[in-house]
Amino acid sequence: MRLILLGAPGAGKGTQADVVKSKYNIAHISTGDILRANVKQGTELGKLAQGYMTSGKLVPDDVIINMMKARLVEPDCKEGFMLDGFPRTITQAEALDKMLAELGIALDAVVSLEIDDEVVVSRLTSRRVCKQCGEIYNTIGKPSRVDGVCDKCGGEVIQRADDNEGTIRNRLSVFHEQTAPLIEYYKKAGILVSVDATAGKDSVLKIIERQG
Ligand code: AMP
Repeated sequence: MRLILLGAPGAGKGTQADVVKSKYNIAHISTGDILRANVKQGTELGKLAQGYMTSGKLVPDDVIINMMKARLVEPDCKEGFMLDGFPRTITQAEALDKMLAELGIALDAVVSLEIDDEVVVSRLTSRRVCKQCGEIYNTIGKPSRVDGVCDKCGGEVIQRADDNEGTIRNRLSVFHEQTAPLIEYYKKAGILVSVDATAGKDSVLKIIERQG
């Protein structure tokens, strides 16, 4: 199974991917997670990406495309993968088509998680994340038992630098301008499936099970 999870920041792409992962052994590839790990480790890629990320802008296409070329040939992708946060521009989508053709594989579906901007703003301003294990919390719906401490690993629970309202609104406008055109791109390719992003954490899993 090879999927793309498409959707605005905060649509729940990572959460849906975790539910799928608990059942199917396919790689979950989040470009945001890869970039954040590079920022944390202080790599050249991390240093390059950091400024774009904190302001909510996209990291340049060629950087992301090279990063994904290397990632898609790793052994854990053999059984399939879910791409979360990639592609984010038409240029990236065209590059992905080329990469897949070279590997002799094809996408099964592109799932578009549909969500209202104001729901995103409310979700993301209240989102918190464990610095150590990545567990996601929400100050309204799912707070950690002890404020600032992860229930799972005891790590520090923080707010992502780009989860403030100004940056969230920038990320949303970047999404509408540069990423939303991919919906049409994949509709034309005949592989787009749209779902309501507020319908439940297992919407993507249900689609996979329906497709068999
Ligand atoms: P995310 O965790 O997917 O919301 O990504 C966080 C940030 O990483 C984005 O706001 C971008 O700055 C950067 N980023 C992640 N994926 C991409 C991509 N495919 N193209 C360009 N920038 C990206």
